[in-house]
Amino acid sequence: MTATAPPSLVLVLNSGSSSIKFQLVDPVAGTALLSGLVEHVGEPDSPVADHAAGLRLIHSRLADSGIDLAAVRAVGHRVVHGGKLFYRPTLITDEVVAKIDRLSELAPLHNPANVIGIEVARKDFPDVPHVAVFDTGFFHSLPAAATTYAIDRDLANRYGIHRYGFHGTSHEYVCGVAATVLGRDTRELNIIVLHLGNGASASAVRGGVAVETSMGLTPLEGLVMGTRSGDVDPGVLFHLNRTAGLDIDELDELLNRRSGLKGLCGVNDFRELLEQRAAGGPAGEAANLAYDVYVHRIRKYVGAYLAVLGRVDAIVFTAGVGENAPSVREDSLEGLDALGISVDPERNRAGRGARIVSAKGSRTSVLVIPTDEELAIARAAWQFV
Ligand code: ADP
Repeated sequence: MTATAPPSLVLVLNSGSSSIKFQLVDPVAGTALLSGLVEHVGEPDSPVADHAAGLRLIHSRLADSGIDLAAVRAVGHRVVHGGKLFYRPTLITDEVVAKIDRLSELAPLHNPANVIGIEVARKDFPDVPHVAVFDTGFFHSLPAAATTYAIDRDLANRYGIHRYGFHGTSHEYVCGVAATVLGRDTRELNIIVLHLGNGASASAVRGGVAVETSMGLTPLEGLVMGTRSGDVDPGVLFHLNRTAGLDIDELDELLNRRSGLKGLCGVNDFRELLEQRAAGGPAGEAANLAYDVYVHRIRKYVGAYLAVLGRVDAIVFTAGVGENAPSVREDSLEGLDALGISVDPERNRAGRGARIVSAKGSRTSVLVIPTDEELAIARAAWQFV
């Protein structure tokens, strides 16, 4: 008997500002063989001094796993910002790395970490294609009316002030799975995607093409998130600067790290928020308000995107909160029966995995689709093998 060849694998790397996630994926079977996370990269007192050390740790975990690393046929890199330059999965060359590095101005926390991850991994796996998959890519198709901020054109053009959108890999992936679940072609479907994780974003997708999304120049705009405010009147910043004396870095920190659910009730983890609500008392009151603000913001975006799309065939909930918090799905779509949207309370609270949770007669299907950005990146990288 001949030994069967080991499956071909793709290593997916998500090298973030202070953590590196990895996953070894069989792109053909669509399964993950191994995944892990190295945290506190480059933080004071951390044993992981920098990204190079983090990637060495990952390499030794891979080697210890017993999986034959010769089976790794490609490496897929999640890159946050492709600017206007990159939107398709892109084979990485020295020139591509230099351009991703130059885009750091638009994503100062993320692109530099992505670049280091790419450089170290190219040395570790020198003989296979490395492919960059951009978080902004799927939103390249947004029309100018959706990407343009109504500010001075010359200034905006000079500094690349433009709505790019993020989480694109997830939005695109769940649209594909939703079409499969509905037995339809994505090209026939108008979909609203609600990606509700630590970061959160909404999108409107017409026939598989994104036409609107809630994140903008940076991942700060739009929905209420774990620690990010989402939409605020920019006048709040001028006011806080003038009255509270907060400088630009303090305001950045306020809106990105001390706002959202955390700012409203002290916790950014949605499970803790739900526990705090259940426990009641003053902390429970704060958690109730945080929950209401969170859900209200989602409703506003659903309403806006209904108008953008005109006809909506499906609303898809995904990511940590979207997949696991039935009350958020129910409350954010409550009372929309007249618009053809009805969540079925029983279906919504039961089941696992990709599924339909709308009522039988609901004109718009409501779905829960677990996202899998790693698989999407692995498949994109696999095209280059
Ligand atoms: P990230 O953006 O870091 O990938 P995730 O998609 O994993 O985040 O989402 C993390 C969020 O999902 C956290 O706020 C977490 O509390 C929430 N979450 C995870 N499981 C549940 C659950 N069972 N119920 C409610 N929220 C959940």
